[in-house]
Amino acid sequence: MFEKVLIANRGEIALRIHRACKELGISTVAVHSTADADAMHVRLADESVCLGPPSPTESYLNIPAIISAAEITGADAIHPGYGFLSENARFAEIVKAHNITFIGPTAEHIRVMGDKIAAKEAVGSVGIPLVPGSKGALADIKQAYAAAEEIGYPVLVKAASGGGGRGMKLSPTKADLAEAMNTAQSEAKSAFGDDNVYLEKYLGRPRHIEIQIIADAHGNVAQLGERDCSLQRRHQKVLEEALSPALTPEDRAEIGKIAREAIANLGYLGVGTIEFLWEDGKFYFIEMNTRLQVEHPITEQVTNIDLVREQIRVAAGHALSFSQDDIKFQGHAIECRINAEDPKTFRPSPGDITYFHAPGGPGVRFDSAIYSGYRIPPFYDSMIGKLIVWGDDRPHCLARLKRALQEMALVGVDTTLPLFLDLLEQPDFQRGDYHIHWLEDWLAEK
Ligand code: ADP
Repeated sequence: MFEKVLIANRGEIALRIHRACKELGISTVAVHSTADADAMHVRLADESVCLGPPSPTESYLNIPAIISAAEITGADAIHPGYGFLSENARFAEIVKAHNITFIGPTAEHIRVMGDKIAAKEAVGSVGIPLVPGSKGALADIKQAYAAAEEIGYPVLVKAASGGGGRGMKLSPTKADLAEAMNTAQSEAKSAFGDDNVYLEKYLGRPRHIEIQIIADAHGNVAQLGERDCSLQRRHQKVLEEALSPALTPEDRAEIGKIAREAIANLGYLGVGTIEFLWEDGKFYFIEMNTRLQVEHPITEQVTNIDLVREQIRVAAGHALSFSQDDIKFQGHAIECRINAEDPKTFRPSPGDITYFHAPGGPGVRFDSAIYSGYRIPPFYDSMIGKLIVWGDDRPHCLARLKRALQEMALVGVDTTLPLFLDLLEQPDFQRGDYHIHWLEDWLAEK
């Protein structure tokens, strides 16, 4: 097992990784920007190194500073968390070149899955169902017209290097295609330095359903069921559920088997998530994330498996501590992403948390790095905590979620807490009857 792990991240995920390390008897090194000198991950870690000024490019994305920190402290592994450098294949290569273990898949797998065209080809070849689309990148508008004719309108123009919903443009009819393609290309060029785009059939009211997988270096692969992340705003997840209220046990078994076999065939290592859109009973692959996800705790709650612990263990060369047959789904879990934002305009609300009381009691978990007196810096993501609630079944989970939200007290900054209390009263949500546009439709009406 590793002796010392450097955690190349901040906030709640840095703390989550620190906790898993301590339980495995591993020392931790926190890295931080000058804006995070008082952060909880820095306070709790065994050692800490300041990387540089607040700007992410000078701190959490500063590869030379992170490698130096690992060398100075003698860390034998680096955990990238999510976001920042977690899906940067070059970083994974550099870490390896310094004889430090990157806690994640190989650089090759990160690279392939980071290019959506290459990813579709790779997973399509191992039996994963795809959204009907163009074969590879589009050379020109003539190819786009031909592909769209075959797929049928509406179509979506998507950037090969896309992320965070950028470089994605809808073309409802043939008349819109040239403009959609141009806009997607220029957006992708400026955001990702790559203007390769492709076409996909636009699905009207799908759900976003993703499968959690984990694989070790001994040929063992497990799938840990699905998460339903259909409640989104601007393609960003707001609330997630495990398991999905929409799937039947047969749907679940079928997609789980396909995902597991595909991952085995790809020779993948570590944790990963295969994301699908699901419409009219059919699954369509959209992308694979080669890292831990923000919403991993709901899977932990329904499977009783510590994903971060297992992720670190398999990176150190150990076999998975469980087999597929050990996985029994129990109860229901929901995660609410609590952001420091105005609950109506979603404008970020950084500043001082003057008072904070965390919710607790049976089935309640609050993954966060905030505390009374903490100053939320304006430089980073506005998510300040994740409220994760587990219940015997979905109604029990909803009742617990309501009382946990009512228990939580946070003074000093605006948060999205009231949004969730409101959402809980919506009959569609109570029935689990929603799709990827539902939340935005509801917000627009509200
Ligand atoms: P990104 O990497 O930018 O997040 P994804 O491919 O993961 O892009 O898609 C993000 C979201 O965009 C999905 O969760 C879904 O809401 C929407 N989306 C993506 N592809 C399609 C499609 N073919 N039809 C309809 N909506 C889509």
